Amino acid sequence: MTASSSGPGNPSPATPCAVAEAPRRAGNLGGPRAHILHEANYAQLLARRPNVAVLPWGATEAHNWHMPHGTDVVEAVSLAERAADLAVAAGARVIVLPAIPYGNNAQQQDQVATVHFSTATALAILRDVTDSLARQGIDRLVIVNGHGGNDFKPMVRDCQLTSGLTILVVDFWRLCPDVLTATFPDPGDHAGQLETSLLLHLRPEWMEMERAGRGEAAARLPDGIRQANAWTPRPWSKVQPDTGSGDPAGSSAALGARYFEAAAASLATLLSTVSGLDRGVDVFG
Ligand SMILES: [Zn+2]
Repeated sequence: MTASSSGPGNPSPATPCAVAEAPRRAGNLGGPRAHILHEANYAQLLARRPNVAVLPWGATEAHNWHMPHGTDVVEAVSLAERAADLAVAAGARVIVLPAIPYGNNAQQQDQVATVHFSTATALAILRDVTDSLARQGIDRLVIVNGHGGNDFKPMVRDCQLTSGLTILVVDFWRLCPDVLTATFPDPGDHAGQLETSLLLHLRPEWMEMERAGRGEAAARLPDGIRQANAWTPRPWSKVQPDTGSGDPAGSSAALGARYFEAAAASLATLLSTVSGLDRGVDVFG
């Protein structure tokens, strides 16, 4: 067979592509949700005219040995969508944007396949998102943050000034402090009880609990620095050898579901409140 006889313009009849019947979607799934941008069609958006955008923003990074790298994205997206479901049912005009999957991972650059977004990159993204929304009559934005290394405050101050949007930021682990305390004896701050329980609830098929490390710190700042509550970034692999910070022992899907539903309800109340503000009125009235 010559090269010309098997090229893309002249496929060989001897090697036909296999044709298989596509699997069918099971049952009536209810159609696209008009408040989730990746599902909604243009007709739905024109009919609903959302006034609040929700932007889940995570990171893609190691979470101890037992959890998926997508943990922070799953948490932010799942909470944003669940809260939007609830808020829209109560009459709010909400649209959930596609998630930003990368965050600030400057101290984890020695870990394989860890993509770091610098603050300059994050600011450029947030500026383009807010400027775009402002042109389309969506004048309020809620960022749902899934990653402790993301710090949006300076960026929000700048983008609120230049876009005119009202911008709010929520960290998912701060949405319900009373439920957090009542549910988890030791929530941990990275891949501990809180995050492990949430993913056991949201993505149990992605979890390998038998691999879990203790999430113990191997180094800490000298007392003369700690006593002043000074902060400096942790060189993550040195300080947290299994990449976790917090012991995942005692985690369960039931505990995760409890915090998830409480946090989603809290976020839904926030979305309904922000959506109900009169146009042009700032959140302080
Ligand atoms: Zn995380």
